[in-house]
Amino acid sequence: MDCPLCKSSDNINLFHTYPSFKLLECKACELLFQTEAEHINEQDMVQAIYNESWIKMREQYAHLTFQDHATFNTLQLEMFAPQKGRLLEIGSGTGEFLHMAKHAGWDVTGLEPSSLSCRYAMQHYQLELIPTILTDELANRLEPFEAIAIWHVLEHVPKPVAFLNQVADLLKDDGVLFFSVPNLKSFMNTSYGAHSPIFTEVDHLYHYSEKSIPLLLEHTPFSIEALFTRQLANQLEQIYRKKFGASSLKLEAKMALMSNLQGQGKGHEICCVARKRNNK
Ligand SMILES: [Zn+2]
Repeated sequence: MDCPLCKSSDNINLFHTYPSFKLLECKACELLFQTEAEHINEQDMVQAIYNESWIKMREQYAHLTFQDHATFNTLQLEMFAPQKGRLLEIGSGTGEFLHMAKHAGWDVTGLEPSSLSCRYAMQHYQLELIPTILTDELANRLEPFEAIAIWHVLEHVPKPVAFLNQVADLLKDDGVLFFSVPNLKSFMNTSYGAHSPIFTEVDHLYHYSEKSIPLLLEHTPFSIEALFTRQLANQLEQIYRKKFGASSLKLEAKMALMSNLQGQGKGHEICCVARKRNNK
């Protein structure tokens, strides 16, 4: 089988066989991918996973979601798109980020295929999300945006190059794309190896690294403005407790570990900011 990203055929190894899927690894571009990734039906996958218990989980962690993701991601918008304007989020989940971005002055639109999540976002944040994945038909109807945000979605998308080109068509020239994905090279993945909870998730079709993201964007009109990894404090504590039996880490120790991991590109997620170039 060829690598879906760099098309290399002689650098592909079996990474691990899980009960319902296999992960292959491309030594040339560092991409990890499920053998059936390109043939997955996204809509079916979403309905199976984002059910009542997922919403309960989101509700339980809503406070942390605000603290860890929504605030940080809204700050990224301030840094890279200070002029504001129309913002599209693809995969809004229960709506915490969009709620915060709206309060920061953005004119927000959100797509979310899980109807339960849409109901939650309406009840808690009065956000009317569009209940679908991004389709050609919808893309034709939407007016262009100043910014598009896609947090932890790309790893679930069967055809990422086609998807990112469709996203680019929805941006104005010089518009900014913000996205994040789990980091293949994270401390979590290196600590747990093939049994990392990130690898065992059946809906993680691809695992990207700081090496494979730029290769992916080469096939799109985007130029990277920032690419970095980020480590969450509470997740670092969890790994330490489980793996090393350490109780609670002191603030200084936690800060030192986090900056060390981020300096080495081993944070739990990769964050990317890219601008659409009309001449690319
Ligand atoms: Zn490859």
